[in-house]
Amino acid sequence: MNYISTRGEAPPASFVEAVIAGLAPDGGLYVPQEWPKLSHAEIAAFAGRPYAEVAAKVIGRFAGDSIDSVVLAEMCEEAYASFSHTAVAPLKQLSPGGFMLELFHGPTLAFKDVALQLLARLYDHSLARRNRRLTIVCATSGDTGGAAVEAFRGRRNARIIVLFPEGRISDVQRRFMTTADDGNVACLSVKGDFDDCQAIVKAMFQDTQFARAVDLSGVNSINFARIAAQSVYYFTAAVALGAPHRKVAFATPTGNFGDAYSGYVAHRMGLPIERIVVATNANDILARALSSGLYARGEAVATSSPAMDIQAASNFERLYFETSGRDALETGRAFAAFAARGVIDIPPKALTAMRGLFVGAAVGEADTARSILVTRNQTGEIVDPHTAVGLAAAARVGPADPRTPMVTLSTAHPAKFPETVREATGIEPEAPLNVAHLATRPERFETIGADVDAAKDYVRRFARG
Ligand SMILES: *Cc1c(COP(=O)(O)O)cnc(C)c1O
Repeated sequence: MNYISTRGEAPPASFVEAVIAGLAPDGGLYVPQEWPKLSHAEIAAFAGRPYAEVAAKVIGRFAGDSIDSVVLAEMCEEAYASFSHTAVAPLKQLSPGGFMLELFHGPTLAFKDVALQLLARLYDHSLARRNRRLTIVCATSGDTGGAAVEAFRGRRNARIIVLFPEGRISDVQRRFMTTADDGNVACLSVKGDFDDCQAIVKAMFQDTQFARAVDLSGVNSINFARIAAQSVYYFTAAVALGAPHRKVAFATPTGNFGDAYSGYVAHRMGLPIERIVVATNANDILARALSSGLYARGEAVATSSPAMDIQAASNFERLYFETSGRDALETGRAFAAFAARGVIDIPPKALTAMRGLFVGAAVGEADTARSILVTRNQTGEIVDPHTAVGLAAAARVGPADPRTPMVTLSTAHPAKFPETVREATGIEPEAPLNVAHLATRPERFETIGADVDAAKDYVRRFARG
């Protein structure tokens, strides 16, 4: 199984090579050369099996022979043993046809753990075999940093440095990063916003001499291993509701389009998904693109669901590539134009193909707060603001056939966003044990200005030490 770039100018790579590289060298994103298929019988056989076992089967189809299947099964076993719920991703019924898939039972209480717990183990295994040690640099608006620190801390073959915007993430989010006392973890509080952090990281990658000197690597959501790992819970949820003998619809809270695209991947592998509702907050670039055909960057605004405050959804390039008939030349042209001018006119054929599976819905701040309250009143469940966006979108759009079950992905634990939940319901969400004891652990981080050279200096020293 080889991986090719959406821009067509990178040599094919194995799964392990694509995972370690993250981004393809031509600036495109890696996708499998052909889609692996699971038969009706193979999907049906997932019913009632442990999550880690289904994960090893699904991800194994993407890894091909680049990872031994026994080793992969062990990695999945270990990765998902770190979750506090034995089902890993339990499905809860909220209404006769409405369900919620809880993806927040990992160590940092957001769905990012599902992919990063596995990704860190894939890195460790592959780097040990190659005798390499990488320096991972990660800019975070909140959840990815904590999940990455938790996944990579204490690992021999990688060190990790996270950059977060000073004062712009919640206390819980910060403490997930800064209380790790492992020697291979460093946290930088940047006097600036998330865009400053991301610009610093981008500049590090663009300085190829620096990147080579510290063996730089990234773990953001363009990494195909994260996508493969996230496609697994679409299978477990759908099979629990009667797939493949019946279709299932999903509503996915969306920022970078990684999680929603993972549903597309499951669909391409043979899972009968009726529809995926792309649920955005006020940063509605994807909802607008699906309704108007114009993928146009807007001004990013701060909302109560900060992990989705994104106006350029990296993984959209993968969908564009597929729906334009895998035309790498056209995809490269379109996304170069987007980088320069912030607009892509989606060709009619591609738009029709996108609309065959995806429907967009944008949910504003008032509706998000109302969704938290209504869910609490109608079901007794307390949900976080990202999940609330998904539930509101699912309620507005619904499945195409009213008999099709609709599963909303619940992407964070409410205790990660206590202020928003308290404002909407008057209730303080109960913090799980691992959050409660974070408050008493000492924090460790350095503060720097929004300055590329200061950050590079720090990374150089850290990589040497
Ligand atoms: C990252 C994140 C999202 C958005 O996921 P994408 O893959 O970027 O679309 C939604 N909710 C939460 C809580 C997140 O951390």
